[in-house]
Amino acid sequence: MKSNCQNLIQELAHLEIITDPGQVAKLSLDYYHFSPILEAQLQDKRADLVIRPQNSQEVIDIAKTCVKYQIPLTVRGAGTGNYGQCVPLQGGVILDTTKLTKIISIEPGTARVEAGVKMAFFDKQARAIGWELRMAPSTYRTATIGGFIGGGSVGMGSINYGQLKDRGNLQAVQLVTLEAEPKIIELRGDEVEKVNHAYGTNGIITELEIALAPCYPWAEFIVTFADFITAAKFGQALSDSDGIVKKMVSVHSWPIPAYFTALKDYLPTGKAAVLLIVSDSDRVALESLIKEYNGELTYYKTPEETQKGNSILEFTWNHTTLHARSFNPKITYLQAFYFNLATVEKLYNYFGEEIMMHLEFLKFQGKVIPAGLPLLEFTTETRLNEIIAIYEQQGAAIANPHTYIMEDGGSRQINPLQLEFKQLVDPYGLNNPGKMRAWVEARG
Ligand code: FAD
Repeated sequence: MKSNCQNLIQELAHLEIITDPGQVAKLSLDYYHFSPILEAQLQDKRADLVIRPQNSQEVIDIAKTCVKYQIPLTVRGAGTGNYGQCVPLQGGVILDTTKLTKIISIEPGTARVEAGVKMAFFDKQARAIGWELRMAPSTYRTATIGGFIGGGSVGMGSINYGQLKDRGNLQAVQLVTLEAEPKIIELRGDEVEKVNHAYGTNGIITELEIALAPCYPWAEFIVTFADFITAAKFGQALSDSDGIVKKMVSVHSWPIPAYFTALKDYLPTGKAAVLLIVSDSDRVALESLIKEYNGELTYYKTPEETQKGNSILEFTWNHTTLHARSFNPKITYLQAFYFNLATVEKLYNYFGEEIMMHLEFLKFQGKVIPAGLPLLEFTTETRLNEIIAIYEQQGAAIANPHTYIMEDGGSRQINPLQLEFKQLVDPYGLNNPGKMRAWVEARG
C-alpha cells in the first residue's frame, strides 16, 4: 500500500476501515458491467481502502485527512450505479455512506435524511404518516437516497413527478467540502443543481431534504397484448388518463417477458406485457381501459400483498436489463427518450429483431412521454454508435450508458455551475477524479 494511505490509516484508526483486498475489490465496483465498453475500461480499477463513517464529524475527519495526504476520495452508497460512477479511477479512499442512516424528520410533503438511508426502508417509515418518496429507481430495496441523487435520475413515480433534476424534487443538500479545513455547506432551492447528479465529484453529501408524494393503496398488475404497438398505445392511454392514479407503466415487447422467469405463469409466449403499479381504488377504471385495448389482465397483487415480498418493480427500468443479461450476457442497453409513440413505432419497425423494445412512461415538461431502456445484443462499438445515431436522427434522445464521464452520458453538455462549485469545494480535484470532463479540460 502507498505510504500516504498508510499514514491516513494511522490517523483515522478510530474509524471503520476496510483493507482486505477481496472486500475492497467488491466495494470498488458497481454495475458498470451492463456495458461491455465500460467492462473493458473499469474492471481492474480498485481503491486502496474503504472507510465507513458513522456521522458527519467522521466524514469531516476523512475529508481533512485525504486532503492532507492528497489522496483521491470517491463516495459510494449501495454501489448500484450503472456507469462506474463510484468506481475509483485513481485508487485512494472509498467513503462508504451505508452507516449514515438517520432519518432526521418526516413531515407531510418533505423529509430530511442522512445520505446513506435506503429508499425502501425510508418509505416504510414515511407511509406511517401517509407519504412516500416521489420517485425511486428499481434498485429501491438497496439504493441509498444520497446515491440516487448522486447517480440516478428517474424511476417508479417519474410518471407523476418527472426526473430527479426537475425543480422541487430535491429541496436541500448538506455537504462536506474537500478543503484543508473542510466546511459543511447547505444548498437550498435552485442551488441544489450544483450537486444534483454530479456523480459525487463536488462534495460529500451528508444530509438531504427531499420532496414526498401522498401514498395510495398501490396494487400491481400485468396486462398482456397480442402485439407491442397496441401495448405501447395502451401504456400512453393509461399515462394520459388523469382519473387513474398510477406510479408505473412499463411496456415490454416479446421476447423480453421470456426473461422474467419468476413471472412466467402470467406472461404467455409471444405476447407483449405491460407491468403496472396503479392505485387499487382505480381498479375498475383500469379494467375498462384494458378492455378497450383488448388486453388481458393476467396478474393482480392487492395492496396488502404488495407490501410483502418482491415487487414487479424489480422487472422494470434497468432491472429488465439485469434479467435479460442473466439469460444472455451479451445483451446490453441504451437509455432513450422517444417523446411520442410515432417515434417508438418508427424505430420498432426499423430495427425489427435487433432491438427489444422496453418502454417506461415518465413526465417530461408537463406531458407524459414514452422513454425506456431498449435491449440489444452487443456486437461492436461501431454498431452501437450507429444505432445511437439512427435513434437520434429519428427524433429520439439517448443518454449514453456506455461512458463513465458525467457530461458524455446524459446532457452531453458541460454544466458550468457544477464546475464552478467543484473549484470551490474540491480545489485539489480529489473528489472522484476523472469523471467530470469540464474539470479535466479546465486543468489541461
Ligand atoms: P452509488 O452507485 O453508490 O453511487 C452513485 C453515484 O452517486 C456515484 O457517483 C457516487 O460517487 C455518488 N454518491 C453516492 N453517495 C453520495 C454522497 N453521499 N455524496 C455525493 N455523492 C454520492 N437508476 C435510475 O435512476 N432509475 C432506475 O430505475 C434504475 N434502475 C437500476 C436497476 C439496476 C438493476 C441497476 C444495477 C441500476 C439501476 N439504476 C437506476 C442505477 C442506480 O441504481 C441508481 O442510480 C441508484 O439510485 C444508485 O444508488 P446507490 O446508493 O447504489 O449509489
